[in-house]
Amino acid sequence: MDRREGMKQIMLLLGVSATMPLQAFDFNKAIDAAGSLTKAASITDADIKAYYSQLSKEYDSQNKVATSGNKYGKRLIHLTRGLNSYDGQRFNYKVYLTSEVNAFAMGDGTVRIYSGLMDLMTDDEVRYVIGHEMGHIKFGHSKKRMQAALTTSALRDTLSAAGGKAAQLSDSELGGLFEKVVKAQHSQSNEREADDYALKFLKTKKYNPMAAVTALQKLDKLSGGRGGGWLSTHPAPKERANRMLKQLS
Ligand SMILES: [Zn+2]
Repeated sequence: MDRREGMKQIMLLLGVSATMPLQAFDFNKAIDAAGSLTKAASITDADIKAYYSQLSKEYDSQNKVATSGNKYGKRLIHLTRGLNSYDGQRFNYKVYLTSEVNAFAMGDGTVRIYSGLMDLMTDDEVRYVIGHEMGHIKFGHSKKRMQAALTTSALRDTLSAAGGKAAQLSDSELGGLFEKVVKAQHSQSNEREADDYALKFLKTKKYNPMAAVTALQKLDKLSGGRGGGWLSTHPAPKERANRMLKQLS
């Protein structure tokens, strides 16, 4: 086998198309990528939770968290009573006091609801959002995001320096991580899974399942005007509302 043929064989092993011109191919980069894949496999669930709790603490400190005496705090305590543990997962809930219509979940069970979303929605509609966020955790969507983000080149050095233990990340590293694991848009299939989970959650708990439809319709109305927030990470509310409605009729 000549040298060029040998390179082609290695490229095939790395999953690189053999039709790719050799000169345009960055060999070091590909080996790096292959190395990071091996590392991704060695990131344990405990590591993922540890990174999420770092992120969660940092983000809580940057936001105005409602106290248990605040009206939003009280309302969320009421809505999440008995839900600190559900379907084999542990959750912790807080309200961020901001007019933004948003909510998110993290792989360590962190669920944060924004007061702007609570203003817009009825109790059962907020429960739909909570159930949807629980779904992202239950199906490991959050976990997969973290695995992918932890293997990016910037963080890889920090991780290897920590020698297999969860590293203490700097503020800027946490900021970058937040963008990747919380602010990134979910895929349509992940959205459907989380929506179906929310619907099942509402039915199991004997809340009104139509709240899933009306919550998404409200979000759809917003999408023309002040988008952003939950809509930027959770696209296509109209189609999703119709899909939920079909399952209920
Ligand atoms: Zn979602």
